[in-house]
Amino acid sequence: MAALFVAERLRPLRARKEPGAARVGRNLTIGLLAGAATAASEIPLVAPVQALAERGRLGLLRRLALPRPLRIVLGFLLLDYTLYLWHWLNHHSPRLWRFHAVHHIDLDLDSTTGLRFHFGELTLAALFRAAQVLLIGVDRETLRLWQQLLVFSVVFHHSNLELPVEGERRLAMLFVTPRMHGIHHSTRTDETNANYSSLLSVWDRLHASLRLDVPQATVTIGVPGFSTPEDVSLIASLSLPFRPDPRLRLPTAAALRRRSDGADAS
Ligand SMILES: [Zn+2]
Repeated sequence: MAALFVAERLRPLRARKEPGAARVGRNLTIGLLAGAATAASEIPLVAPVQALAERGRLGLLRRLALPRPLRIVLGFLLLDYTLYLWHWLNHHSPRLWRFHAVHHIDLDLDSTTGLRFHFGELTLAALFRAAQVLLIGVDRETLRLWQQLLVFSVVFHHSNLELPVEGERRLAMLFVTPRMHGIHHSTRTDETNANYSSLLSVWDRLHASLRLDVPQATVTIGVPGFSTPEDVSLIASLSLPFRPDPRLRLPTAAALRRRSDGADAS
């Protein structure tokens, strides 16, 4: 992460709206709280659920008589696919969006945004992780491997590092990349509702939610209505899920259809 933090400042992909140390300090503080929430919820929850699933031979993969290498690959793929579904749900459930929006209102996108998750979102994510372990029946080594790669991927694809276009295009055939995820952090709904994958990019291809056709120079990072550092301050960010805020209203399906019809016509 330190290497990416330096590299993205030497070769920035997008111009910054909020340069300076205040934003970095704010994101690191939100990230520290998120880390504490993960430790406080995952450790007492996921490990016991894993032990319970092992003892009771619970979960899809334990029901199938598969060779171990295939079980590992399938476990990895199912963890990553279900995370795609969870991320999609975070954008379509009004309650979950209140928490996930704290990540999206950051005015810039870089490696520190990869830590900027509300502690409530990561507590809910720990519950989801326990459900993944129980339903998929993934073993703890595969879970650990996937989680470690996921952390690296999250910091990498949030980074503001300009990679060579052709190299990134090839990388995006398999993995989520900075340009690909930059489109997901756009203020435009049709761009936010794309690129939900977090590690492997295949899930967006399968669901036709992949967009690689938006130049980064045309992307405005953030959520409409949150445009100043005061809108995204530490207190405003941490309290956001707990107060009604009209700026977090999700567009209805009919409004989205109207917008895409308008885009098609233009
Ligand atoms: Zn998102």
